[in-house]
Amino acid sequence: MLEGRCRCGAVRYVVQDAFRYAAKCHCSGCRAATGSAFKPFAGIEREKLEITQGLDNLAIFGEEDANDTRCRLCGSFLFSVVRSSEYVHVAMGSLVDAPTIRPTHHIFVGSKAEWFEITDELPQFDEHAV
Ligand SMILES: [Zn+2]
Ligand SMILES: [Zn+2]
Repeated sequence: MLEGRCRCGAVRYVVQDAFRYAAKCHCSGCRAATGSAFKPFAGIEREKLEITQGLDNLAIFGEEDANDTRCRLCGSFLFSVVRSSEYVHVAMGSLVDAPTIRPTHHIFVGSKAEWFEITDELPQFDEHAV
């Protein structure tokens, strides 16, 4: 199991080290949500992630089956519920432990920040990976 937490520590979760995919998303939504050049995220079935502390300190933006979940006390971005609630996209910066998986590609490079230069050799996709 991998541990994750928000900045202030009020919310903690565990997730299996069994992510199905991982990527870096450069879309304008992820840039705004993270305040960063891109969002590294890793996808896994929702039931493989469990909140272990701070369930009542979650701030959920969006719908039950499609949202961004944060700590309501410190605002840290923890994960998004996606794909009709079947998957979560863990914001990899919220992981305390290092997962086995590494991001394998860049997506939405067509809308990436002009001031950011991709310097790795990973495949790039203008929008979703095909
Ligand atoms: Zn917090
Ligand atoms: Zn995105």
